[in-house]
Amino acid sequence: MIARLIATKRELDERLDSIRKAGRLIALVPTMGALHEGHGRLIDTAVRETGCVVVSIFVNPIQFNQQSDFERYPRPLEADVAFCAARGAVIVFAPSADEMYPRAQRAFVEVERVSDGLCGAFRPGHFRGVATVVLKLFNIVRPQRAYFGQKDAQQLAVIRRMTEDLNVPVEIVEVPTVRETDGLALSSRNQHLNAEQRAVAVVLHRALQTAAAKIAGGEREPREVVRAASGVFDGLQDARLEYLEIVDPDEMQPVDRIAAPVRIACAAWVGSTRLIDNVLCRPGQV
Ligand code: AMP
Repeated sequence: MIARLIATKRELDERLDSIRKAGRLIALVPTMGALHEGHGRLIDTAVRETGCVVVSIFVNPIQFNQQSDFERYPRPLEADVAFCAARGAVIVFAPSADEMYPRAQRAFVEVERVSDGLCGAFRPGHFRGVATVVLKLFNIVRPQRAYFGQKDAQQLAVIRRMTEDLNVPVEIVEVPTVRETDGLALSSRNQHLNAEQRAVAVVLHRALQTAAAKIAGGEREPREVVRAASGVFDGLQDARLEYLEIVDPDEMQPVDRIAAPVRIACAAWVGSTRLIDNVLCRPGQV
């Protein structure tokens, strides 16, 4: 299979025009590249459900709050294009920053409340950057469906709310988190971890599992669940918990009591690498 690598909106438009004229549906899988099996699952699902898949690869400068994080983000474009081709994507859209932002960006998408807590509290402006670039990509590609991973649950909630509140004509499809065998969620940032840090990094998953077990055992008090889960980090030299919270899955706000499905979300630093993970938990179910 060959995936065409396209860097400009103009060429993309020409190519998509003929696809649209042939009456085919278009799916978009937005990514920042350094593709792994998590992205692979998104692409596979999109190929299966929609057929014509565009994978965008763009390390979006306006969603990074640390220049060093932006600069060290991995960019193995050639391997990524081969990865997309092997999974059956037809187009890889990898624009330059100038192509996406030909002049200073003055219009931004703010999704209030949903963006405020969790990662939003620690990365000011991050979700504004994400929502803005995703809306730009939606307008450039005009897909019928777009695929996002539950790994980034707050991002998913922000995108969902944006498309609903702004009547963006695209169906948002959620794909479950892909994990390593020990439970670590796949992430492009995992490649920054050395062997010891990689071993430690499973702590995020363990903490979430501990929280889920507490809830399955009948605990309904968020503070108790958080206390037990945070304890998993105790004594670890190379891992620092940034947040672990129990929120409602729609607006991502902390709940007072666990009475309906909740998302348990956490972020932690392992060495100098920031990792996030989350699970959906339904009280009354294991
Ligand atoms: P990124 O390249 O990290 O911006 O991620 C692009 C898309 O892939 C987002 O929708 C992510 O939620 C999704 N994704 C990243 N890691 C995983 C994973 N381990 N499992 C499922 N989806 C993922």
